[in-house]
Amino acid sequence: MVVFKLFACCIPVKGFANYIICDLQRAAFINIPEVLYEILTVHKNKEISKIKHNYNKENYRFIDEYFEYLENNEYGFWCDIDEIKNFPDLNLKFESSELINNAIIDIDKNSKHDYGKIFNELNELRCKFIEIRSFDILRICDLCEILYHTNSKIFRNIDIIIKYYRDIENDINENKLFSKFTNINAVSIHSSPKNEKSFNGKLVYSKKVIKTCNDCGEIDIDKFTLNIDTFTEAQHFNTCLNKKVSIDSNGNIKNCPAFNYSYGNVNEGDSIRNVVRSQEFSRYWPITKDQIQTCKDCEYRYICSDCRAFVDSIFDKPKKCNYNPYTGKWE
Ligand code: SF4
Ligand code: SF4
Repeated sequence: MVVFKLFACCIPVKGFANYIICDLQRAAFINIPEVLYEILTVHKNKEISKIKHNYNKENYRFIDEYFEYLENNEYGFWCDIDEIKNFPDLNLKFESSELINNAIIDIDKNSKHDYGKIFNELNELRCKFIEIRSFDILRICDLCEILYHTNSKIFRNIDIIIKYYRDIENDINENKLFSKFTNINAVSIHSSPKNEKSFNGKLVYSKKVIKTCNDCGEIDIDKFTLNIDTFTEAQHFNTCLNKKVSIDSNGNIKNCPAFNYSYGNVNEGDSIRNVVRSQEFSRYWPITKDQIQTCKDCEYRYICSDCRAFVDSIFDKPKKCNYNPYTGKWE
């Protein structure tokens, strides 16, 4: 007896109006009809003849076509029913040993950050992902001065967002930015006259104007993240704020730079380590999409980023999301 088995990394998700399969290995999703979702979940691991008993005869052809599509496009495979135990579902537990794994550091022309102290503390916290955002022009030579403080640290990925200026590419070349700092993931240039990519996609020009931290939080299909880490984290925690610490442009230590309260100030001697260890600091971390109004009915809830800064109340859908899961349309 053979049954169809979805690959463990291909997970069906139900929304109010639409249904998808999240392919966490190929970082993509496909829309599927409601009946296929039902076949893959309610009738999971059943023989095809038994599945067909639940539907009218005129639908049998479609059921065969669905399985043919899934097999041909490598979403799963046929196996003997006795073999199923050898192919367990993905474990959706989320475990991470670090207290903090991502940090935002905001800069504007008035910022007086002690970068040595900030990066030392983040290093001791074993924070892996750093985002540096400058709202005003930050010349590449000045950026390098900041980045020297990240040398010999644990940081795996550094993302940089800076404002456009005319000689930026020359400065990147002259300062050997990408070869000197190999853990730079990407440099995004905002307020640029063009939308373009260069340096093998590491330099991204965007016309989007970013003036303050309030320009963050847009939800867009292009920003969806499909991987095991985000998918499993989204089952249990908030995908923006979990294990995040932010330093706003005035040095305030916050969950998100756009929040209007802080837990201390690095420039006034407060310790990031002490702040993040307080119970109060982690209060937003367990807010999952399954608890958020409207998002809980959205098929994208485990792959979409979240925003808790621009909301009417803390359990409301992000204001900067234009998707309506009840109609299945971006509005
Ligand atoms: S409704 Fe919620 S889960 Fe769906 S795309 Fe918008 S923010 Fe994401
Ligand atoms: S909560 Fe919103 S504004 Fe704050 S970092 Fe996350 S997406 Fe950006």
